[in-house]
Formats: sequence, structure tokens, C-alpha cells
Amino acid sequence: MRQPARSFSSGSSRDVSAGPASAPPRILMAEDNAINQRVGKLILQRAGFLIDLAADGVETLDAHKKQPYDLILMDCQMPVMDGFEASREIRNLPLPQPAIIAVTANALVGERERCLKAGMDDYLSKPFQAEQLVAVVTKWVAIRKGEKSAASTA
Ligand SMILES: [Mg+2]
Repeated sequence: MRQPARSFSSGSSRDVSAGPASAPPRILMAEDNAINQRVGKLILQRAGFLIDLAADGVETLDAHKKQPYDLILMDCQMPVMDGFEASREIRNLPLPQPAIIAVTANALVGERERCLKAGMDDYLSKPFQAEQLVAVVTKWVAIRKGEKSAASTA
């Protein structure tokens, strides 16, 4: 069982001596459905992850610009700006880049390729089991942690 993530304070007050690899991962869930938001947040909290929420692509972009995330769970179907466009926009930002995991209810053939083409790294189709959500987040948090510690020792 994973230890509960420590609460995250703003970047300016972060303990730099602890190194970037030990900071809790910053995770954003972009999801327009309030029930899906609640369920997803609860599943990830129980697994020890703290997450922030955004309800559409514009909110997602604004949140990432304010303080870049390590990982974004990106619902593809959202109002205002969908997950495909939000991902393309994020990939064009001159900011630290998050891992982006597409979450989509669209079972169309080629959907996975469409997500990857928009700049997303991985794919989770709805409906998913709690274990599948935890597994994909755990996987990408570990990948990001490896990248960060490699960068800090470079
Ligand atoms: Mg949606």
C-alpha cells in the first residue's frame, strides 16, 4: 500500500533541498462530468494520490499554465475545448510537459491513434475499473519520477 501523498504547497515554498523526485506528483483530472470527477478523485485518493480537477480544455490549459502538472488525465469529450485540442495546445506551450493520459468513452476504431496523434501518451477507455485507473496513474507517475531524477543528476 502506497503512503498517502503529502499535501502540496506552492512552488515558492517547496523544500528544494528535498529534490524534485521526492515532491508529490502533480496530477490534474480534466473531466466535465461531475460524477466521473468525484469517482475518479475518490479512487485516486484511496490509492494515495492527490489530484486537482478541471471541467474543460480551457480550464485544463489555464491550470497547467499556472503551475505545470506532471500528469494530466484528459477526458477527450469535453465542452468548450475538447481533450484533443487541449492536448495539442499543451504540447505547443514552452512549459514543462506533462504525461497526458487520454480517457475516452469513444470505442471507435482508431481512437487510440487519434489520441496519440494529438500528443497524448497513453489511453484509458471508459468505463474503466478502479484498478485500471490506479495502474495507469501509478505507471506514469513512476515514469515521470524516473525522468525527474535523471534530469536532477544530469
Ligand atoms: Mg466528457
